[in-house]
Amino acid sequence: MSGRDRRILILGGGYAGLTAMSRLARLGLDAEIVLVDQRSHWSERIRLHELAVGGKARQIDLADFAASLSARFVRARITALSPSGRVVGLETAGGGSTWLRFDHCILALGSSVDDRAVTADALPDAPPVVRLESATEAHLIHDVLVRRPTAKVLIVGGGLTGVEAACEIAEAFPATQVTLASASAWRQDGGPGSFSRVAVQHLANTLQRLGVTSIAGRVLECRKGVARMADGAGLPYDICVWTTGFAPNELAQASGVAVTSHRQVVVDHTLRSVSHRHILAVGDLAFTRTPASGPCRMGCVTALPMGAAAARTVAALLSGRELPGFEFDYLFRCVSLGRADGLIQFVDSRDRPRRLVWTGRKAAIWKDYICRTTLATIGVSAMPAPPVVPPLTMLLPLLRSRRQYA
Ligand SMILES: Cc1cc2nc3c(=O)[nH]c(=O)nc-3n(C[C@H](O)[C@H](O)[C@H](O)COP(=O)(O)OP(=O)(O)OC[C@H]3O[C@@H](n4cnc5c(N)ncnc54)[C@H](O)[C@@H]3O)c2cc1C
Repeated sequence: MSGRDRRILILGGGYAGLTAMSRLARLGLDAEIVLVDQRSHWSERIRLHELAVGGKARQIDLADFAASLSARFVRARITALSPSGRVVGLETAGGGSTWLRFDHCILALGSSVDDRAVTADALPDAPPVVRLESATEAHLIHDVLVRRPTAKVLIVGGGLTGVEAACEIAEAFPATQVTLASASAWRQDGGPGSFSRVAVQHLANTLQRLGVTSIAGRVLECRKGVARMADGAGLPYDICVWTTGFAPNELAQASGVAVTSHRQVVVDHTLRSVSHRHILAVGDLAFTRTPASGPCRMGCVTALPMGAAAARTVAALLSGRELPGFEFDYLFRCVSLGRADGLIQFVDSRDRPRRLVWTGRKAAIWKDYICRTTLATIGVSAMPAPPVVPPLTMLLPLLRSRRQYA
């Protein structure tokens, strides 16, 4: 089989899937590239907290973007994957169902907010409980804030998404009463994903400055405008925003592809599934590690280079060349704390905190710049120039890291 008879299917048009599509198109392969997603438009997920307070986030019409790359977009919900049959089952927008065959498949179905531990009302008049995971939910939050500027806002989950949402809402709607409920404290153990003492201090100070009430404890359920905590206490809310971690899409596990206990597809250094070699997985759905970084955590920061690397792997598979390995190392973690403040925690290649931390306006500008670079990586805008000069010790790694996203 050759030429346009060969089909590369990209399942999921998020950061990872779109990057894979634009790189595959750029490589000019002699194969049909098909992107499938349930949404007609992609919107910048890492700016959803900004969108929730009326800010802007870039939207991309997936059909137009695919067409501009001579690829095909199919809007449908993927309902089944047969790895050995090399087909996926689709439910189209009109309600019909169909199958699509593939030669190579890139699984990029991402993750959704992990709310498995929490039950909530679905009563029509109950105060809304919203998962911050798409533009639709972000707009819903904004509507409530505009209608009720003195609302009690409960953010469940004290990870970076929760912190960013809490700061954004408290700053943009200062009459709201924002509470951030978190089951665990920010780690300062020096391990991957932890923060330096200065960084944790800045996060705590900023929440306090913005009037956010921080509560330690696990929220078990939300009913009729009251969240019940594990210790029995009740927290009243007018709107509750769930940001309690991310759970990978369940389709891969259901299809029999090898996954971790956390439901991520186990892939090797070429991003191919260890159980089904013609299937690749990228982004939040994939579990891999590199010699430099160790295990890669879920995030846009890893989804983008994985998308680019998956395209290189598929290109090599099609041409019979030696497969390139996925290379990645960490440089910094960016947190926005409202529009004028932020936190850049510089890290070593394994995501362990260095002493160097940026805060305040410089950090906010850098975070915004990083968000803009993600659009360039996907392929919908030109790469912006850095607005702030990074420290000399970071310059070389920064330049080197550009290769990971190329
Ligand atoms: C508010 C917020 C802020 C964040 N900030 C940062 C940050 O600063 N830095 C960082 O590194 N990460 C950040 N993240 C995490 C980051 O957004 C994710 O890691 C990233 O989106 C993962 O990309 P992905 O392509 O793997 O998956 P996704 O972006 O989740 O894309 C998956 C796609 O698959 C589609 N899909 C899923 N299931 C189906 C189905 N059955 N049928 C059809 N289509 C389907 C979805 O519609 C979606 O388009 C943030 C997340 C949030 C919510």
